[in-house]
Amino acid sequence: MRITAVRTAVVQANYDWTFIRVEADNGLAGTGEAFFAPGLTAMVRDLAGVILGQDPRHVDRLWRRLQRAASGAGSVSGIVYNAITGMETALWDLVGQALGVPVWQLLGGKFRDEIRVYADCHAGVGLESYGPALESRQPEWYRRAAAVAAPEGDTLSPEAYARHARQAVARGFDALKFDIDVEETPGEESHRPLSSTEIAAVAARVAAVREAVGPAVELAVDCHWRYRLPDVIRIARALEPYQLFWIEDPVPPFNPLSFVTLRQATSVPLCTGENLFLRHGFRTLIEAQAVHYLAPDIQKVGGLLEARRLADLADMYDIAMAPHCIASAFGTVAAAHLCAAIPNFAVLEFHGQDVPFWEDVLLGMEKPLLRHGRLRVPDGPGLGVQLNEEVARLYAKPGEPFFA
Ligand code: MG
Repeated sequence: MRITAVRTAVVQANYDWTFIRVEADNGLAGTGEAFFAPGLTAMVRDLAGVILGQDPRHVDRLWRRLQRAASGAGSVSGIVYNAITGMETALWDLVGQALGVPVWQLLGGKFRDEIRVYADCHAGVGLESYGPALESRQPEWYRRAAAVAAPEGDTLSPEAYARHARQAVARGFDALKFDIDVEETPGEESHRPLSSTEIAAVAARVAAVREAVGPAVELAVDCHWRYRLPDVIRIARALEPYQLFWIEDPVPPFNPLSFVTLRQATSVPLCTGENLFLRHGFRTLIEAQAVHYLAPDIQKVGGLLEARRLADLADMYDIAMAPHCIASAFGTVAAAHLCAAIPNFAVLEFHGQDVPFWEDVLLGMEKPLLRHGRLRVPDGPGLGVQLNEEVARLYAKPGEPFFA
């Protein structure tokens, strides 16, 4: 078996869902999804020559060739791995199909048949769409969705948060996440000190959600690296009464040892990792047992095999895995194969509540995909699912090739 082509397609969804297809000379094709990045598909095209003509079964070896090819361009970490990760996932899908086994089997077998999924709820409303540099945009589907569920003026009040939480629980989710870094205040880029009023406002929103959903629903909060350590200590302590699942990305990402100080200062569990790459990017956090949960993004952390290795390393230090995920249903299912195959899995993110076609781009599984906040892991060869190209094409990003 030899690789004959590498192609890409981009869907303009809540983010740029970027699909990578690796084709082989026996007529099979594997598909992977990569986390969006500026210039991503051009990077895939530039890297494709590294694996063209090669035998796709030697996934790790090809992965290392791709890493080597990117050695001058950023192989320690960064968006080169978004491309390599999507290509690696496509290789596993291809190899699984060729061998007639699911990807979870290739990763060591299953610990579970269903994956617990938590619903990311953003703030008081959830509808959003961003380009590759996080520029806000309004594709046609967004404008139609907004016309139906027009965000009201009140999106940051405790009542808006509580209402949004009740809606997610009514859809069957028993684990939620909300953004708490939502107030637009001049100077936030510089991680300014927070006022007591701002901290009280954060606590009021979290209190309202906890009151709305009761004690049995898991509730995480996300800070997007926005605060200084002393402020986060105050926030975390203010949130201690609400039995949080975790507080995510509380401090700027550049000093992992801040987590050690924070862990000692609060009982709220800590989570980070969506912007880290490879085991090596997590190593300091893991060896210091600085966090309770790691949140690698399975569409960019380095690949399914690298995520498996990361999970095993974390497991040695009693750290659980709560993978970040903003992918389409296709990428989410790919992540589910990894989640099924690791012992220390906690929960997987679902970020598509407000994308009307989130699961329509997927073929091969019964809909709705998410029932009672759980995702079944497919047992078919490879990833066990296919991209619905007819639907995906409806939302194709202008100017991008569509597997051409
Ligand atoms: Mg996050």
